[in-house]
Amino acid sequence: MSKKISKVLNRELKSIEEWRNSFGASTPDQTLFISDKKIESVFESLSDKLKGNYPFHHPVYAGQMLKPPHQIAQAAYAMAMTINPNNHALDGGPPSSEMEKEVMSILADFFGYGDEFLGHLTSSGTIANLEALWVARQSHPTKKIAFSENAHYTHGRMCEVLRLGAVTVPILENGKFDLETITPDEIGTMVVTLGTTGLGEVEPLDQIIPWAKKHGIRIHIDAAYGGFFRTLKDSVLIDGTNWNQMQEADSIVVDPHKHGLQPYGCGAVLFKNPEVGMFYKHDSPYTYFTSDDLHLGEISLECSRAGAAAVAFWTTLQCFPLKEKEGFGPILAKCRKAALTGYSLMVDSEKLVPYKKPELDILTYFPVNESTNNVSDISKLSKQVFEAGMRDQSFYLSLFKVPSSSFTKLHPQFDANEDQVSILRSVLMKPEQADFMEELINRIEASF
Ligand SMILES: *Cc1c(COP(=O)(O)O)cnc(C)c1O
Repeated sequence: MSKKISKVLNRELKSIEEWRNSFGASTPDQTLFISDKKIESVFESLSDKLKGNYPFHHPVYAGQMLKPPHQIAQAAYAMAMTINPNNHALDGGPPSSEMEKEVMSILADFFGYGDEFLGHLTSSGTIANLEALWVARQSHPTKKIAFSENAHYTHGRMCEVLRLGAVTVPILENGKFDLETITPDEIGTMVVTLGTTGLGEVEPLDQIIPWAKKHGIRIHIDAAYGGFFRTLKDSVLIDGTNWNQMQEADSIVVDPHKHGLQPYGCGAVLFKNPEVGMFYKHDSPYTYFTSDDLHLGEISLECSRAGAAAVAFWTTLQCFPLKEKEGFGPILAKCRKAALTGYSLMVDSEKLVPYKKPELDILTYFPVNESTNNVSDISKLSKQVFEAGMRDQSFYLSLFKVPSSSFTKLHPQFDANEDQVSILRSVLMKPEQADFMEELINRIEASF
């Protein structure tokens, strides 16, 4: 943590301690006592264990969808966590509940919903999507949910949980949904993913909006990964077509714990029509809604939720607005540039071949040498490179499986001698990676 942030954190933790003491001295009960020696030894062993992680903070980590939260969020979370407010009810954390309402208004405004909406934070993108699909079911109880073959795997799982019929929509070569294969009458809600988890692809919302309107079908946008890229919708770095129309959807999910600089435990769901609030009505004797103001627990599937998550996100948005030229925009622009730089370096490389042109900041590629003829050669070499980087601690990538039929459509010179091919995948979520791509690619090329 930077000296400045850690100094401010210590100062403000003291200030909270004073507030705590202002209610009169209270010493922890004897049962909670731990010896100094025990604290020393347990924490020493803890830090040893934690060093077993991969270096998520460093540009050499160019693997899975992982990155540490901003230090501002870490500090804000740590402060709030000493109080541990619960955003279930206003009584569980009045200030953090207000901060949650404020960040939800900022997100609603950002996605184009304006003042009229319903929404709250969740513990994850999966739970946020579960809630959106639950509202989808309550809205059209007899109909099915449709999503593309590239949607996050949890949509299928959550349809099972909700006992909802699910329809998988194939994707055509031009990236459009193959709507010919489905029966609109049986669909209640179509899921459109803006920023797929595998390749970071932006699904064709522009195609789905008129089709869904015509058939009276709801639209749910899963922007768990991609949502913050909307800051770049008017820039030359991405194609803004689909990002510009998000306000047409009935619900939107975004994960602040992915590109929102937050620690885990921070997803979000928004509904365009606040009337879906009626689905949440419950009347349990142990909840404690003492006022007529909106209690977030009244409009969420989950009961207890960390107020600290709202505090951390609120603090982050004070420092980093959701704008193109300030705050989040420049950060995401760097991530996007990292992917574009990596792509053009690989186009010129003799040893690494880009699998597909990236639409956001996820780059997929594969290694080749003189004797690479078929997909099993590629899988073997990919695994070899993946392992070599980790062994030498010089780079960290992830493996990604693609059906050989899709692979050979893009790279017909290779023989599909197996059903699947393993390639390499780098989720370039750190702005520092924009200037590190040349070095990263040099290191990868030197490893085989
Ligand atoms: C990550 C992701 C999810 C799941 O979110 P979690 O926060 O990991 O539960 C859902 N959809 C998409 C598109 C994602 O990228």
